[in-house]
Amino acid sequence: MLLPDHEFLKPASLAEGLALLAAGPGARVLAGGTDVVFNMRGRLFTPPAVVSVRSLPELQGLHERPDGSLDIGAGCRLTDLLADPLLARHPALRTALRAVASRHVRNLATLGGNLCLDTRCWFTNQSEDWRAARGPCLKTGIDACHALHGSPVCVALNNADTPPALIALGATVTLASVRGERQVALRDFYRDDGIDHTVRQPDELLTRVIVPPTTDRVVFLKETARQGMDFAYGTIAARADGHGARAGRITLVLGSLTTAPVVLDAITTRLVADGLGDDAIDAACAGLRAALGPLTNLYSPAAYKRELARTLLRRALLALREM
Ligand SMILES: Cc1cc2nc3c(=O)[nH]c(=O)nc-3n(C[C@H](O)[C@H](O)[C@H](O)COP(=O)(O)OP(=O)(O)OC[C@H]3O[C@@H](n4cnc5c(N)ncnc54)[C@H](O)[C@@H]3O)c2cc1C
Ligand code: SF4
Repeated sequence: MLLPDHEFLKPASLAEGLALLAAGPGARVLAGGTDVVFNMRGRLFTPPAVVSVRSLPELQGLHERPDGSLDIGAGCRLTDLLADPLLARHPALRTALRAVASRHVRNLATLGGNLCLDTRCWFTNQSEDWRAARGPCLKTGIDACHALHGSPVCVALNNADTPPALIALGATVTLASVRGERQVALRDFYRDDGIDHTVRQPDELLTRVIVPPTTDRVVFLKETARQGMDFAYGTIAARADGHGARAGRITLVLGSLTTAPVVLDAITTRLVADGLGDDAIDAACAGLRAALGPLTNLYSPAAYKRELARTLLRRALLALREM
């Protein structure tokens, strides 16, 4: 499939890129292009212009700040991040990075592209002809959702692998525009709306990702049909301080099951009080359903998603206890 007509813009600096985004309503940011190009070929969107940002110098590089945080350029390729010795201090983040697609895709894909990845839906991430047979939806033109009938919002999935790991690590992102810069905690970056799925404004670029230092135990797990190629059925990132069953602070983040990553605050409060014993883990798994909200049959049945969420939670908590 050919790409729709568009203007290809390649700014030489961040300032130039931000000016192009501010001037051109509807312009699409292009990083590695591993998702955006597919979607344009499928006419899911047909922007008048794309602004290529991967080579912008201000979006490159990974370095350590004086406080021990890692400062990662949003334009860094996933392959380069995996090869960087500084990333060795965050094994769970490395696991999440390596879980993204295949080596070929990771050679092009960027961290910013993964964090801003558009939501996916079995009904819309198809060819234009396929979609025409079914008819449009909230994402493509009318007031209806094929995946969850009667839903007032698009419930397409956030299927990116790195957000849960980076949320668990307490990462923040920098959003830049001609109006200036702002920092947003990644846990506040995503919205429960598959169309407008992040708080990023159309003229903003995600420029840097800051990962604070930690000595906590952290795990990342991904369930998928084929390792090394496929999008997740579900993921979890789990973090705890302390040792064994004792933890004074726990963070649990589920991914790929809903429109935005789910931070399980209610469950963690109880686990901190009770510890990571078998009974407490059973109770956490039993109480999980309420925290998940509406589940769809997108890519896997809702009943399977419920069971998978419980299984991922149990595996993650047991893994933390063993670390
Ligand atoms: C075969 C295949 C398998 C895949 N499997 C997985 C998988 O297992 N896990 C997974 O997470 N992903 C998967 N993907 C999706 C995708 O390849 C990755 O998420 C990748 O990291 C996207 O990065 P990119 O740089 O190519 O983004 P692009 O495609 O360039 O952009 C993605 C989105 O982010 C926006 N964007 C990009 N950079 C910025 C920025 N700096 N600021 C603001 N907006 C920005 C773009 O406008 C676009 O909306 C797969 C893709 C393919 C083709
Ligand atoms: S979840 Fe519903 S509105 Fe969103 S893309 Fe799928 S069918 Fe369309």
